[in-house]
Amino acid sequence: MSGALAVAALALAGAILGSVFGAPALGALLVVALQQSLQALQFRRLNRWFDQGSGHPPALFGALHRVAWRVYRQRRSSRTRSRRLATMLRELQRATQALPDAVVLLEGEDRIVWFNNAGATLLGLQQRDLGQHLASLLRAPELRVLLKVETGERHIEIPAPGDRTEILDLRLVPYGNARQLLLARDITTVARLRTMRQDFVANVSHELRTPLTVILGFLETLKEEDDADLLQRGLGRIKNSAERMQSLVEDLLLLSKLDSDQAPGLDQQQQVRLGPFIQRLSADLEALHPAHRFVLEVDPDLTVPGLERELQSAVTNLVTNALRYSPDGGAVTISYEAVEDSAYLSVRDQGLGIAANHLSRLTERFYRVDVGRSREAGGTGLGLAIVKHVLRRHHSELKVTSTLGQGSCFAFALPLRAQKGAPEQTHA
Ligand code: ADP
Repeated sequence: MSGALAVAALALAGAILGSVFGAPALGALLVVALQQSLQALQFRRLNRWFDQGSGHPPALFGALHRVAWRVYRQRRSSRTRSRRLATMLRELQRATQALPDAVVLLEGEDRIVWFNNAGATLLGLQQRDLGQHLASLLRAPELRVLLKVETGERHIEIPAPGDRTEILDLRLVPYGNARQLLLARDITTVARLRTMRQDFVANVSHELRTPLTVILGFLETLKEEDDADLLQRGLGRIKNSAERMQSLVEDLLLLSKLDSDQAPGLDQQQQVRLGPFIQRLSADLEALHPAHRFVLEVDPDLTVPGLERELQSAVTNLVTNALRYSPDGGAVTISYEAVEDSAYLSVRDQGLGIAANHLSRLTERFYRVDVGRSREAGGTGLGLAIVKHVLRRHHSELKVTSTLGQGSCFAFALPLRAQKGAPEQTHA
């Protein structure tokens, strides 16, 4: 029933009631007045409840009752929705804060709106930087260029503002209306590995190119000359170069195998007796290098858990180096004995020795103190890198002490008892 009709009906009812007392007009007026004041009271209640903004609706009648409950239900579901949204937002913020990568929200060209914790650590941003221009804070010219690029690849690498030896990858992602998301990632390790890989490929190519040039050069000469003497010398040089390439390829294959294979597990480890191997090796080498004298302090019965082939290769590298870098001969002392719970091996020579500034880099691939001498003596520049990898796989490490002009000592200690757990992987 519409409002006007309802009022008319009430007035009629009032008039009928009033006519009982002989005053139908007064009856109609009284009833309508009563209805209107009740209505006003209900509206006031409803208004107060609207202002309060919460709680159940007050006691109301008729249409107002229905309206109030409908509003109440809508309020409740929108409150639940906003609570859920707020929780999601909090979770999202927590997740973004936990990201190891920096996230910076930018407005306009580069005004900082928000950044996460990693933004503070990686980019050195502070709360007072909010609202500032990112480019003026980071001061990397590449960043200014990046901010101007509109399409295509939008990422650069820059030195970290806090520590310039670290490298950051910055990526810009536009979103929404004139907003951008700047993502920054620490890629120091990746960049270092990339440089190492490039250096490695360059080194290998260079190492292979030299003997190849020698081979090709001699083949050219021999094609044109008919001299038996020259032929003999030429074949000798070709053989030397081919052997050099062979050693290089063998060392490279061994290194790559050591790199990619898991360290020997407990079930693969053998009980290795290095003593008899050292005795045989030094007897063979002494026959080939009469200027050198071997002094052995070797326990022939000492056994260590590990891979025989790898440990033998490490020892061979150290002993041949001792000879290679003692051009004037002298004593090479090999000691292999138990010291506490390790088998301690050392190879000491009286050769050229190594200046202190080279010591920390000796086990890097292709690092040589004197490239010419190493090549001349048949070195590949990979021997000590192999030793380092083998030892790491056997829970040990190489210790080098040396005095320039007096000689060097290369030593390591192998645990006598089998070790559980693979040693940490490194890529150097
Ligand atoms: P290379 O094949 O050149 O010998 P290594 O990796 O075995 O490569 O050794 C790296 C460099 O360490 C050598 O080039 C040499 O300069 C130095 N070195 C290794 N052993 C000795 C040693 N016993 N005495 C002096 N220098 C050594």
